[in-house]
Amino acid sequence: MNAGPWLPVPPDGYGGIENIVATLVPPLRELGVEVVLASVGDSTLEVDDLVTVFPEGQFRQLQRPYNQVNGVVPAHQHLVVREVRERSDIDLVHDHVEAAGLATLAALGPDDPPVLHTLHWDLHKHPELYGTFDGGGRVWVNGVSADQVSRAPEALRAHAVGHVHLATPLAEGAERRRPADKGDHVVIMGRITPGKGQDLGVRLAHQYGFDLILAGPVGPYHSPEALAEVPTSDNPDAVYFREKVAPYVDGSRVRWLGTVRAPARDDLVASARAVLAPLRWSEPGGTFVVEALSVGTPVVGLSLGCLPELIDHGRTGFLTDNEEELPDLIEAAAKLDCGECMREAATRFTPGVMAARYLELYRQVLARA
Ligand code: UDP
Repeated sequence: MNAGPWLPVPPDGYGGIENIVATLVPPLRELGVEVVLASVGDSTLEVDDLVTVFPEGQFRQLQRPYNQVNGVVPAHQHLVVREVRERSDIDLVHDHVEAAGLATLAALGPDDPPVLHTLHWDLHKHPELYGTFDGGGRVWVNGVSADQVSRAPEALRAHAVGHVHLATPLAEGAERRRPADKGDHVVIMGRITPGKGQDLGVRLAHQYGFDLILAGPVGPYHSPEALAEVPTSDNPDAVYFREKVAPYVDGSRVRWLGTVRAPARDDLVASARAVLAPLRWSEPGGTFVVEALSVGTPVVGLSLGCLPELIDHGRTGFLTDNEEELPDLIEAAAKLDCGECMREAATRFTPGVMAARYLELYRQVLARA
């Protein structure tokens, strides 16, 4: 399992991909799969073997434009490829590394194990890599939603073996838990970045009068204090936050808490009226959605990306194409049955469901290779 050089597995707080690796590995091992993890040295996930690529996560590098991390990612990938070549006990590489991972892993030869590469991101970010992708007969891909696969460049879709929705340990036994008491607040949980649409959320909160809490990092800054220490920043998310979001963060109607770590994160979401997803991009997998449902909180959002696959409109949340309808839908969400959200999560988004599905894909890939 190749988790990349950016954050430990599991991550401390924010970390979508690393969270998913941490969620997938335990049930895979229960199903009898031996897992060698390629990650950073501060990863604490229990695995059969840990191959470390850096002593600690390189999160700051992730925040720089892709061309600037070029020096970092391939170095890591070459290490993984060398490790795969040197040992005879690896049947398949499950790769979670953005963009550069594909190009390098495709270089594996006919005697090397095949690769299943999970697409976690917006595929249009790297047309130079994905547009001309050639798996070399060794690399197959899966999406984290059907929507993501359907919009992938043709060259990539030709190598797709399907999609697997994201999962969370919170979904396990969710149907037996009592939903938390609800407060008045609405939450947007995630990186503060244009694609997640916090600017729309904060505008609606003021205009229509609902309490909104933003949780998540702004670029590499995990707290208001950390961001305040940096008077100007060339980080695009910091610029976005300062220009489009911060003017609405007044500490009462709209608050920004910085990164909120579990379990406080889950209490915050569980006690929210709704989680809001005012997306500006086609959300590929939406961990925050399956987490919200697992703790009994409906999700209200724009009908983009994976959201229609994850949310049962009218039962576990509401979706619309019209952003001005979102405030009414937040009101309507308060009347939904939280138990339905939790039952849905317990049926569809548990680690066990995800691991069983990946095992199927591993078998498919091994058969094709
Ligand atoms: N997250 C968190 N604390 C925060 C903001 C986000 O723990 O303050 C977690 C969130 O709960 C989710 C992950 O970071 O597990 C983000 O993954 P997601 O797929 O929602 O978004 P991505 O950033 O990968 O696009």
